[in-house]
Amino acid sequence: MRFILVGPPGAGKGTQAVHLAAHFGIPHISTGDIFRLNLKNGTPLGLQAKGFMDKGELVPDSVTNEMVADRLTHPDVKAGFLLDGYPRTTAQAEFLKNALATMGSPLDAVLEMTIDNAEIVKRLSGRRTCRGCGKIYPTSQPSCDACGGELYQRDDDKEEVIQRRLEVYAEQTAPIVGFYRNEGLLRSISALGSVDEVASHAISALSK
Ligand code: AMP
Repeated sequence: MRFILVGPPGAGKGTQAVHLAAHFGIPHISTGDIFRLNLKNGTPLGLQAKGFMDKGELVPDSVTNEMVADRLTHPDVKAGFLLDGYPRTTAQAEFLKNALATMGSPLDAVLEMTIDNAEIVKRLSGRRTCRGCGKIYPTSQPSCDACGGELYQRDDDKEEVIQRRLEVYAEQTAPIVGFYRNEGLLRSISALGSVDEVASHAISALSK
């Protein structure tokens, strides 16, 4: 199974991706997680991405595409993959289409998670992320129950940056929904409901 998750920041793509990757037995590839890991490790790629991420802007396509192309050479993608947070522009979607055509392994589906902006602001400004493993929690959680790591508020989950991320999504990412509809790959589900409810809607949409 090879598919991507599309939806605005805060739709719950990361949370669902963990469930869906386990369900289908495929790697979860999150470009946001790869950038954050590089940032934490102080790599040149992390330093290059930091300024864009802090402002809620997209990292340039050339940098992001190269990083994804490299990830797609890892042997684990032979089992399939789930891309989370990529592509985020039509140029990235075109790049991915060509890269996968060259590999002889086109996408099976694109799952869109829909949610309105008021709910997104509420979710993102109230979430905390584990520094150790990236798991998401509500503000009431004292520390990560998976790895014991410290919880923090991502700079880009602060309210002024959230607004910019939503604008960037509407301007640059929303057009890829039409791109994939034209390709006949799009399946849409609501992002509202419990994690288990959304996961079960996702699995039935992907199994059609
Ligand atoms: P995420 O965790 O998916 O919300 O990503 C966090 C940040 O990483 C984004 O706001 C962007 O700055 C950057 N980023 C992640 N994925 C991409 C992408 N496909 N294209 C450009 N920038 C990205």
